[in-house]
Amino acid sequence: MSADSPLSWTEDGQPRSRLFGDVYFSAEDGLAETRAVFLHGCGLPDAWLGRRRFVVAELGFGTGLNIAALLDLWRTSRPADAHLHVFSIEAFPITADEAARALARWPELSEIADLLVRRWPGRARGRHRVDLPEFSATLDLAVMDAAEALSGWQGSADAWFLDGFSPALNPQMWSDEVLGLVAARSAPGARAATFTVAGHVRRGLAAAGFAVEKRPGFGRKRERLEARMPGAAHDAPRRRVAVVGAGIAGASLARAIRALGDEPIVVEADRPGAGGSGNPAGLVTPRLDAGLGEAARLFAQAFARATQLYAGVPGAVIHQGVLQLAPEPRDVDRFSRIVDSDAFEPGALAMLAPEESSRRLHEVAPHALDQTSAQVVRPETILQAWVGQPTRAAVAALAPGDGWRLIDHDGRTIVEVDAVVLAAALNSRRLAPDLPLQPVRGQASWTRDGTSGPAAAWGGYVLPLDGGLLFGATHDRDDEGAEVRPRDHQRNRETLRAALPELAARIADAALEGRASIRAVTPDRLPVAGQLAPGLFALTGLGSRGLSLAPLLAEHLAALALEAPSPITAAAADLVAPDRFARRAARRGASS
Ligand code: SAM
Repeated sequence: MSADSPLSWTEDGQPRSRLFGDVYFSAEDGLAETRAVFLHGCGLPDAWLGRRRFVVAELGFGTGLNIAALLDLWRTSRPADAHLHVFSIEAFPITADEAARALARWPELSEIADLLVRRWPGRARGRHRVDLPEFSATLDLAVMDAAEALSGWQGSADAWFLDGFSPALNPQMWSDEVLGLVAARSAPGARAATFTVAGHVRRGLAAAGFAVEKRPGFGRKRERLEARMPGAAHDAPRRRVAVVGAGIAGASLARAIRALGDEPIVVEADRPGAGGSGNPAGLVTPRLDAGLGEAARLFAQAFARATQLYAGVPGAVIHQGVLQLAPEPRDVDRFSRIVDSDAFEPGALAMLAPEESSRRLHEVAPHALDQTSAQVVRPETILQAWVGQPTRAAVAALAPGDGWRLIDHDGRTIVEVDAVVLAAALNSRRLAPDLPLQPVRGQASWTRDGTSGPAAAWGGYVLPLDGGLLFGATHDRDDEGAEVRPRDHQRNRETLRAALPELAARIADAALEGRASIRAVTPDRLPVAGQLAPGLFALTGLGSRGLSLAPLLAEHLAALALEAPSPITAAAADLVAPDRFARRAARRGASS
């Protein structure tokens, strides 16, 4: 047990909070209590009968016992084709090993517990998604204080497990603010359950709009609470969603839509990866230039999600670990602050002194940030795994109706759908002319002469490729030429030489191949991910960060299009919403 663990173990092997002095679950039989208080208390499984999508939210993830018991019930009683979303909140996360020890006392849950422990969510402050396709379920964990997590959650729950420690020991978890947020994020007809009947909790839930009832309690506890929101449940409708573009944005959308149980229709004019996602290899690294604000948190979350998903695609990750060079003292300062922050998983980032980075890079090098979970991936393998069979057609126009009709250059209907997501980088402009997208030409160079080398970045980058090295890249605004230019190979060699002169010298005579593509960027350098009009969405403006950003933002868009809970916070969604440019222009207009 580490010194900063939030729990200790009682003599009979029960986890107990060191912060609150309370137990995680009942000493008598935690599993039976969970079933009686939370599952039965929320009317499960009856409440999800006939539903396509059901959302359970929990205050206090703890050891994951409640969620393991929930998955056990869902597995045997879920409606066909239904998807379960779990949103749980935990300010003081425990490790996978601690969870394994706590859950080991219930052999009947061992299969589910093993799976949950193997995929145990990250512990960095922020949001973490755990995929549970075996159960047709998704778990989103918010690692932060309950009030903040609830304020930022964009979902609405059908059932609530209110499982903070006892209100006497942990009043913060049961404040009027928290209970008000629980009510505000409840679907019509939502149920809430808890083990406590404290007067303050009953009054708080009632004041927030729940009808509250005491019920006979479990074991030695005399009573427990059940609460209910007025109204009738509304189910998420089945939707046909078209995705325009089969680069990393379109591929990520197809994956995310499928993960929610719907089948996407991907429409692509060329072949998958014909645009910016077509290099033979690419870097998946965190963005370190965004400081420690909301944007930086979104980039950190996107990076973690991208690397998690790519690791699950056989053959996609060709190298793990990327050094970010820190040539200036101010880079060392900034990177050190990021290492010390809570935005990345413990151990994901480490500062290396020049001796160590030089040893790794086989030449004299400055300080470097060792990004141990960064990856070099093969985009083609990812696109093949995620796109499916695209419809080959060029979309010339969109016609609104009940949903949207996609029309080709001859005026023929390609497909008619309920919703469309534009994911065609700069080409998204043709269908959404108001998007302020700007072209940036980028050329990468590579050699397959057998030279091996490191994965490193410094503004430029170099990465190992089968039998060679890929390096780059140029960055030329407002240039839409896609041809490979000898002059740009030369510029890439110079970029490499400036950081790693010995490596550059080793390939000085090697013949270079290359590829140029046009990236789309926005005026504020943040991506565009959100709704343009009813049933019309966009995922673009990813610049040269598509591999790191697309998987998470695609899940956000799939959630918007299919009425599922988004994995990103409300504040992050605002940052990337397409209407931010118009909102800012209106504010400027109002203040001038
Ligand atoms: N449901 C858990 C299980 O199945 O193991 C047990 C939850 S335990 C009774 C309460 C949990 O709430 C603890 O894990 C604790 O760290 C967490 N917690 C306490 N105060 C919190 C707060 N203000 N915000 C978020 N989580 C909090």
